[in-house]
Formats: sequence, structure tokens, C-alpha cells
Amino acid sequence: MDSPSKHTGEESRFKDDTRLECRICWYVYDPEQGDEVAQIPPRTPFTALPDHWRCPQCDADKSMFLVMDE
Ligand SMILES: [Zn+2]
Repeated sequence: MDSPSKHTGEESRFKDDTRLECRICWYVYDPEQGDEVAQIPPRTPFTALPDHWRCPQCDADKSMFLVMDE
């Protein structure tokens, strides 16, 4: 049985200014910029993007994005 309270340790790596890179086309989601295509305003953290958000370049879903180490 699945516990209803999922452990979300994965998300603790995210900060509000964490940039993520699409592993298909290398588009970079930069929270400072937001995403004009999907009408995401600047300063929107990746974790705050809607679940249906997709890569504006190749239509990959959020799970295809990798955190960029800086
Ligand atoms: Zn992409």
C-alpha cells in the first residue's frame, strides 16, 4: 500500500532560483525569465509551474528536466 504522505526529499534540492535543463533539447528554464510561451511570469520557481507545463521547445514534460549544478 502506498502511504498518502509521500516523501518529497527530491524537491528539497530546488530553490526558488534553481534552473533546470531539458534533457531532450537543452532548453533551460530560468525562473528569473519565466516562460513567455506558456505565459509564466518571471520569478516563477520550477516547483510552482503548473503540472501541465511542458518544454516550450520540444514539448517534453517536467520530468524530463534536470537540475543544473552551479
Ligand atoms: Zn525540450
